[in-house]
Amino acid sequence: MATILTGDRPTGQLHLGHLFGSLLNRAKLQAEYDTYVIVADVQALTDNFHHPDKVRDNVYEVVLDNLAAGLNPQQATIFIQSLVPEIAELTVFFSNLVTLARLERNPTVKTELEQKKDLFKGGVTYGFLGYPVSQAADILTFQADLVPVGQDQEPMLEQTREIARKFNSIYGRIFPEPKALLGDFPRLSGLDGNAKMSKSLGNAIYIADEPAIINKKIKIAKTDPQKIHKNDPGHPQICPVYGYQQIFNAAEAKEIAKECKSGRLGCVDCKRCLADKVIAYLAPLQERRRHYAEDMPKVRDIVRDGTAKARQRARQTMAEVREKMKIDY
Ligand code: ATP
Ligand code: MG
Repeated sequence: MATILTGDRPTGQLHLGHLFGSLLNRAKLQAEYDTYVIVADVQALTDNFHHPDKVRDNVYEVVLDNLAAGLNPQQATIFIQSLVPEIAELTVFFSNLVTLARLERNPTVKTELEQKKDLFKGGVTYGFLGYPVSQAADILTFQADLVPVGQDQEPMLEQTREIARKFNSIYGRIFPEPKALLGDFPRLSGLDGNAKMSKSLGNAIYIADEPAIINKKIKIAKTDPQKIHKNDPGHPQICPVYGYQQIFNAAEAKEIAKECKSGRLGCVDCKRCLADKVIAYLAPLQERRRHYAEDMPKVRDIVRDGTAKARQRARQTMAEVREKMKIDY
């Protein structure tokens, strides 16, 4: 059976971007692949080292969101990164195989550094610059073949393959070269029109958002700036709300585009109809989330068992790594 490793940073609850970028693919493939879902608390600390409470508080939120999306603990292994220290060990060995210049060139790191200018105004930390190396270790500790992710993660996969190739060529082949599996909507835009819905940008609809919140968020979402009055002809192709219509209301999307362009459909009605669809879509997921949230001791058991299984798998890889690196004293 081939292996999947994927996961999320516990920096907030998960949103529609996560769902359509990665979570639905995880749920779909969990029966066919040995599936590991990492709650990446160590990675979250690289840019939240000063907010340990935030990271801790979101660990179980992220677990609940995965369960809500249909991850089945009988099939998938959900675990906490910091409780598998073998990953940190592998990160140290991998750090010899990457240059600082290569990390500085990573496009995702560059974009994120731009967003985190204030945090790193005294200089970027060793830990943040190195997080792609730690992420390569997350993936390769499980010798994963496939990584369901959003588009922003493609450069991370490229970097992971480079590290795997370098390790294999120096010490002998033990690592696959993992591929990214992009979701149906690999870069969902934010409610504010930003190219990426993101927990750090405050422009997201969360999986757990109540209907009233969803209504409110959609009501104030950005639309085509040229459509000021109801009867102005709109440009659905550049409207973030229309982007969501294509996902949640695929059957009516063409008709909506026509009506919007002709000026017969105004943004208020278009948004009301979208909000109803989003609320209906999320209802069964939220029901599942509530079901698990009512039994937190069970959820903690799921994570404890998942972490024990992940750790066992990690130990196997590290035994191979130590032998290849001639440090199996
Ligand atoms: P942070 O701002 O803390 O980095 P994030 O919203 O980027 O949070 P992550 O936990 O870093 O979320 O990402 C988890 C997974 O979800 C990754 O595979 C990422 O590519 C995917 N993802 C995140 N946002 C989107 C989006 N807007 N569209 C599609 N996929 C996304
Ligand atoms: Mg991210």
